[in-house]
Amino acid sequence: MNTLERAKRELVNTAYAAYQKGLFYETWGNMSCKPTENSIVITPSGIPYAKLRFFDMVVIESSGKTLQGRLKPSTELPLHLAIYEKRKDIRAIVHTHSIYAAAFAVSRKGIPVALEEQAQIVGGVVEVAAYAPPGSPELAANALEALGDNSAVLLANHGLICTGPDLAAALQRCIVIERNARVILCSKLLGQTFTLSPEEVTNLRSDFLFLYGQQGHAE
Ligand SMILES: [Zn+2]
Repeated sequence: MNTLERAKRELVNTAYAAYQKGLFYETWGNMSCKPTENSIVITPSGIPYAKLRFFDMVVIESSGKTLQGRLKPSTELPLHLAIYEKRKDIRAIVHTHSIYAAAFAVSRKGIPVALEEQAQIVGGVVEVAAYAPPGSPELAANALEALGDNSAVLLANHGLICTGPDLAAALQRCIVIERNARVILCSKLLGQTFTLSPEEVTNLRSDFLFLYGQQGHAE
């Protein structure tokens, strides 16, 4: 199996895993990875996640031209291309409309770091990009501005973008952020919500990167 075939298989498996975890519903959300410098593999437009298949994945040149695939790519392709163009460290993007992250996106409020795992896996607050319509050049510009050097960003009235060095890392960030957002909203029922300070977040992130896990490294 060559590099592109492997990337298509990994993408369809990750898309199905995200669907099973309840992060994707119907046709909303999309994801991509960048297996080589000149190509990205992205999910197609308008196909329910429950029915996605290996040969539905679309391979795109960095210019935006389709290299392989019989279906149209996700309408958020310009957003994915803009992120890969600006941030050379990013090799995978997962975009969800998951409900608790979307609640913050609708409130146009960043998601603070309440759970330690958001500090460890995401490394900070998830900021909100200014509103722009889906698929528009303004959406890509606004998302890049709010993303900065971070690994995730909210799109106002829309959803969540998580990035990473690979699909597993980007999906894990979406899972952690969704859980963190849900716990914050649940904690409001109990009264006060205590969030972690920037210093506590920095310490948790660096301890996690250097001390946690089998390899001594998270990613
Ligand atoms: Zn979307």
